Amino acid sequence: MKEYNELRDQNEDETDDWNTGANLMDQLVMIYIVLITMSGALHVILAIIAYMNRHAFEGMRTFLWFSCFIAIYAFGYALFLASTTIEGMKFWTAIQYLGMPFSAPATLILVLQYIGYDKYINKKTYFFYYLIPAISFLLLATNDFHHLFYQSVYLEYRNATPIMQITIGQWYLIHGAYTFGTLAIAFVLLAIYWFRDKSRQTKQVIILLIGVFVPIAAAFSYLIGITPGGLDPVPVAMLFSSSLYLYSIISTKFLVVPPIEKDYVFESMGDAVLVLDQTYHIKDFNKAAFTIFSHVKIGEHIAAVLGVDNQILPLLKNVHTESIILEVEMSNNSIKEYYQAKISPIKRGESTIVGTTIIFTNITEQKMEQMNLTKLAYTDGLTQIYNRAYVLSIAEKMFASHEKMAVVLFDIDHFKKINDTYGHFGGDEGLKHVASLSRNVIPESGVFGRYGGEEFILFLFGKEAEAASTISSKLRRLIAETPFHYDDIVINITASFGVALKENCTALPLLIKEADEALYASKKEGRNTVCVAMDGEYIKLSSEIIAGKYG
Ligand code: GH3
Ligand code: MG
Ligand code: MG
Repeated sequence: MKEYNELRDQNEDETDDWNTGANLMDQLVMIYIVLITMSGALHVILAIIAYMNRHAFEGMRTFLWFSCFIAIYAFGYALFLASTTIEGMKFWTAIQYLGMPFSAPATLILVLQYIGYDKYINKKTYFFYYLIPAISFLLLATNDFHHLFYQSVYLEYRNATPIMQITIGQWYLIHGAYTFGTLAIAFVLLAIYWFRDKSRQTKQVIILLIGVFVPIAAAFSYLIGITPGGLDPVPVAMLFSSSLYLYSIISTKFLVVPPIEKDYVFESMGDAVLVLDQTYHIKDFNKAAFTIFSHVKIGEHIAAVLGVDNQILPLLKNVHTESIILEVEMSNNSIKEYYQAKISPIKRGESTIVGTTIIFTNITEQKMEQMNLTKLAYTDGLTQIYNRAYVLSIAEKMFASHEKMAVVLFDIDHFKKINDTYGHFGGDEGLKHVASLSRNVIPESGVFGRYGGEEFILFLFGKEAEAASTISSKLRRLIAETPFHYDDIVINITASFGVALKENCTALPLLIKEADEALYASKKEGRNTVCVAMDGEYIKLSSEIIAGKYG
């Protein structure tokens, strides 16, 4: 990518067709000027496209700079070729240096952005990327004072066109090495990116690879002196490379839709991903998977990772076309966590399954919330026992399927007085106290809840239904004998009970009504009593039939 017009003297050995050679040279230079001007114009167009799409992707801004640099380079070179005086040539060479040396690091930055290495690009690093090109420009522009860039510059008139000859200086070597070096690094990074996963946006990557390679090759051929007329082929090569970019922008939305860096997405995903091969051995996993399955290793069988009894294992063989989604419960550092597992086939072509992915999304929070909501729906907020609606809904279901069933309804005696004496908070404590005492007596299979204000309801089934009276009187005694404490005050409390057995009862409301009437009988009997409804009468426990039907 040498900038000077090192027109190699092909007529070095004195020949007769000196004039013909000169004419040919002039024609070549003319064609060159036309091509380079076209290249400059194309890069102006690319710069405009890049400017219009500058918000689409960070790489677009770099591409804008890149196009401007090449446009400056191309126009500078065209005007250099058209110059006939050494001053003009020096001036246009300096202009070229405002573009050319900067275009190489711009290419590298573009590639870094394309392959997702944005972390290596920021305001500070821009300074370093463009530092050497900036020094090159400054040294070239002031070369007459120090000769660090070119040791000497002079005109030679071997044919009609004057030729600027130079001998290179020390900084020229640094500039050349940096330009080739950055382009070579860009090319290698891109090649590695592509080789690591050929399924990426292949067309775009190949175009970018060619686009980076062509100027390297052109600059190299110029360096070793095999270009026609010793002209710098790079601005013309850029006409080719950038036409490819233009084609790629139009056909594949190159740089307009940023390429997705799959590795980055894979690793930064919050969801844990396990990738399995056809034999269900781990082929790949991401960081999040490592936090759940700390012992996961590539090559390990999935059963060893999930545990042999995990419910996902038997499903793996059933994943053919559609994904399977299920909820799994797993312990993470002995904390129970809930996950949604999505098992999907990895296909090559239409039907060949080459592996499976399992994506675990942590749904513990939602699950807990859902469980809380469900609990709220069936729990009484104060006493933490079932609420009326839930108890009745269960009882309704049980009523149909249970021959033997009993209902116990009980109500705290003179509860209003407790409220009046100790306040509502005192009353609340009494309710909680009764609910918690009840747990000691009520069998596991009993369905127990708060029926209303200070009324509780209990359903018993089978053998326990037969023992309803016994259970009720045990509870009555327990309540009566266990006072509760409220603000250092000891409060005695009693409750009255009504018991009814299903027997000939045809509907749940009738059964509850009987218990309610039996409870009313207990109240009438002086409270702190259990009454059992039987054939329209109410039996006070351990006593004679006490009354007929109330109401
Ligand atoms: P009885 O022996 O006849 O049942 O008399 P009682 O005072 O218990 O009956 P009553 O139905 O007159 O009073 C019940 C009281 O229970 C009235 C109401 O203010 C109170 N109550 C209902 N729900 C709650 C509650 O959640 N907390 C408190 N502290 N009081 C409640
Ligand atoms: Mg009461
Ligand atoms: Mg009441």
